[in-house]
Amino acid sequence: MRRHQARIVRVQRQSHDVVTLYFCLQDGSVLPYAAGQYITVYFDATSTPEGKAYSLSSAPSEPLMSITVKKIGEYSGRLHGLAAGNTFTISDAYGHFNPMTTKPLVCIGAGVGIAPLWSVIKHEYQHDAQRVAQLFYSNKTVDDVAFLDELAEASDATSLRVRHHITRQQEVPALMSRGRIDIEKCLQAAEEEAIYLVCGSVSFVRDIWKELMTHGIAAERISTETFFE
Ligand SMILES: Cc1cc2nc3c(=O)[nH]c(=O)nc-3n(C[C@H](O)[C@H](O)[C@H](O)COP(=O)(O)OP(=O)(O)OC[C@H]3O[C@@H](n4cnc5c(N)ncnc54)[C@H](O)[C@@H]3O)c2cc1C
Repeated sequence: MRRHQARIVRVQRQSHDVVTLYFCLQDGSVLPYAAGQYITVYFDATSTPEGKAYSLSSAPSEPLMSITVKKIGEYSGRLHGLAAGNTFTISDAYGHFNPMTTKPLVCIGAGVGIAPLWSVIKHEYQHDAQRVAQLFYSNKTVDDVAFLDELAEASDATSLRVRHHITRQQEVPALMSRGRIDIEKCLQAAEEEAIYLVCGSVSFVRDIWKELMTHGIAAERISTETFFE
């Protein structure tokens, strides 16, 4: 796997523990990659010299790459410490989360699991504004929602439908729902032949996967990415 030096261009705070880092290679270019892929980030003098994976939240045609990182421990803490002008080491992009289909998409994500879903959604709508896609996005509180304004703009400008689910806040804005994502509602809203993309923690992905299977969605129609052990 080739390694590259990347330079931070700007940092966008998403919530109290999530930032998006926008970066390019040293010559100002971006890596070739497919929407939904991830890179490995390497830091010296850590307990994980083999690096850790971070999904690209950017779309391949955008002028900068980005990763969206939740602060948890060693690597994510180092990433949260980066500022514009700092450099860090990354790999080529890889992974097969994106099923590369023209069929309707149902994206189901939780927390920072939005990263590869947002990459795929942006990529699809850059190519076809009439693309059929839905996003069911779960967060603990409204303040935890990443890309809130960008998602609202995308759903105004395209046929993307975004449904926010807020699990640990009593009062939520009118256009958001309280409580967990209800798979039966996802299925009712989904088009025939829809492909399901699911990303989040192990427990979230496992639960959604099980529920989709229980409701008769074939495994070939489900693509998953899991972030944490
Ligand atoms: C394919 C892939 C893509 C990924 N993409 C992203 C991404 O886009 N954004 C992102 O933020 N992360 C992503 N991750 C996770 C990332 O690789 C790291 O695992 C994560 O940043 C934690 O590493 P750390 O060194 O900061 O924490 P560590 O120092 O390894 O962990 C500290 C402690 O926190 C625990 N912990 C693990 N998960 C959680 C959690 N959810 N909440 C609280 N504690 C936890 C660990 O078990 C450990 O005990 C991805 C992982 C994979 C495999």
